[in-house]
Amino acid sequence: MSDKVIYFDNNATTKVDPEVFEAMKPFITGLYGNPSSIHTFGGQVAAHIENARFSVADLLGANPTEIIFTSCGTESDNAAIHSSLFTCPKRKKIVISKVEHPAVLNVGKELLRRGHKVSEVPVDTKGRIDLERLHELVDDETALVSVMWANNETGNIYPVEEIAKIAHQKGALFHTDAVQSVGKIPIDMSKSSIDMLSLSGHKLHAPKGVGALFVKRGVRFRPFMLGGHQEKGRRGGTENVMGIVALGKACELAGKNMGIENSAVKKLRDRLEKNLVQKISKCRINGDTENRLPNTTNISFEFIEGEAILLLMNQLGVCASSGSACTTGSLEPSHVLRAMGVPYTAAHGSIRFSLSRFNNDAEVDFILDRLPPIIERLRDISPYWKKEGK
Ligand SMILES: *Cc1c(COP(=O)(O)O)cnc(C)c1O
Repeated sequence: MSDKVIYFDNNATTKVDPEVFEAMKPFITGLYGNPSSIHTFGGQVAAHIENARFSVADLLGANPTEIIFTSCGTESDNAAIHSSLFTCPKRKKIVISKVEHPAVLNVGKELLRRGHKVSEVPVDTKGRIDLERLHELVDDETALVSVMWANNETGNIYPVEEIAKIAHQKGALFHTDAVQSVGKIPIDMSKSSIDMLSLSGHKLHAPKGVGALFVKRGVRFRPFMLGGHQEKGRRGGTENVMGIVALGKACELAGKNMGIENSAVKKLRDRLEKNLVQKISKCRINGDTENRLPNTTNISFEFIEGEAILLLMNQLGVCASSGSACTTGSLEPSHVLRAMGVPYTAAHGSIRFSLSRFNNDAEVDFILDRLPPIIERLRDISPYWKKEGK
């Protein structure tokens, strides 16, 4: 294993930006007071939470009162679904997509066990939502439609405004898991009809363990975490002050660096993808290349195992992902690729490269140099390749 890490797994988690680390430092050591305390030592911390709230709201084009801090993206997703079912008790159904993150999919599975109705909208071979089917599935019994803004595995961007309108036509709320899109593509909630939106710190260069839920003004909200009066009674639990301050700083930086994501990062991704497809036979790009995050590419190297590719790349210090990190360890191909109907031999050989502003041309060159011989080596020993590939 080489000492140097070449990190192409930014949809799994990201490096903490050094500026974010600087901003949170005082709250790890000196400023450890409880923001709810009456004394100045604790109370002064509350102002920093409000500054962070302002920065998060600013990135989203939201009002600070619309932002609730949580512990992660998963909690935000859970809180949104939970709230919709409590505030619309007569409606027992939610509609989600088949390609949601487990933070939504597994809530759906649990709701089914508890007697709710859950409909999953299918996607086509490019992973695009079947909007007509969605239209049919949303009915007067539907409390919530939840469809992610961008997919973590393919990078596909979904038409969330259109989906929000479909939900609203039937009086349902609309929530979007925007964990992968916040910081990567422009978002303006002031012009949006989205009711709730989830985001997570560690996907945009803040540390793990902090997230936020946007709840549009006027949308009723019932808390998921009951406890103290933190977050105006909308989320109990003493605030993760250092995490919240870090998230605020990360959002500030994300706003400044949005241009880089959509120019430099996209250019790196495109160069990586284009050259891999040129150098390596029988590979295919999974997803909707017309409508995709600027940092993500999901490529199937047919007739070999993605896990084997990852292991050999790992020896070179290259970090990437096969399927989603949550399904690694099982031999099932990812639920996203299965929902898209990607053929078995291709789904198993799929690798996701996800870039960030901390990647550079030399790293892309390294992969372009080292990956083709790895694929060749693995195909040489693959019975499928010998039988069907060549
Ligand atoms: C990572 C991720 C989550 C979960 O966020 P955590 O902060 O890790 O809980 C949810 N949805 C998507 C799309 C993600 O990529």
